[in-house]
Amino acid sequence: MEQLEDLVAANRILAEHGVIDAYGHVSIRSPADPRRYFVARAIAPETVQLEDILEYDLDSTPLDARGRDSVSERFIHGEIYRTRPDVMAVVHNHSPSVVPFSVTGVPMRALFHMAAFVGEGLPNFEIRKVQKGTDLLVRTPRLGKALATTLGSKPAALMRGHGSVVVGESLPRAVGRSVYLEMSAKMQMQALALSQKVNYLDEAEVKASMPLQDYKRAWPMWREKALARAKAERK
Ligand SMILES: [Zn+2]
Repeated sequence: MEQLEDLVAANRILAEHGVIDAYGHVSIRSPADPRRYFVARAIAPETVQLEDILEYDLDSTPLDARGRDSVSERFIHGEIYRTRPDVMAVVHNHSPSVVPFSVTGVPMRALFHMAAFVGEGLPNFEIRKVQKGTDLLVRTPRLGKALATTLGSKPAALMRGHGSVVVGESLPRAVGRSVYLEMSAKMQMQALALSQKVNYLDEAEVKASMPLQDYKRAWPMWREKALARAKAERK
């Protein structure tokens, strides 16, 4: 299935851009059944091949694991697909430049056209409001549901002291948003270090930029390179 190759590529693209480290993950909703999704088993994303991809139902139970370990935070994906019928792809990451915004109360704002979606307003998931004393990981359906509720209809949500979750109505969009969210966070910190008077995108500019941002020019190039690497590693 071509979509599963896309998912292999997405794992590698996100790792290459420093968005997911050994622990982040990316999923797609099944094109054949909207009540199913695909995500790689618990291995480093930059090493993912087709045989590492597992299928889940929306309770995040694997359908045919055959001894392959599931990622502990898969409930993020299942619960978002359940509450957001428009979402076809989900990225959960520990993108380093985004985390400081999750712990300071300084809101991320849109200052760069490639990440205009930030201007929609990104909520921050406070896991303590749901459960105290966790290791911050979304390991249960209850925590997954609470995160999906915090995300609401937005393109992304920060997760306090942990990372973020980014969604899209296509995989290229969720991947592109994740790459540019990290860049935007870095740029905002740089801009704020230079001046407290930052000229952000205004509401009309955010609105005008949103439909254009599908990252379609970047995606084929990223995909081709990533799949060439995956193929080379097999030899
Ligand atoms: Zn995580």
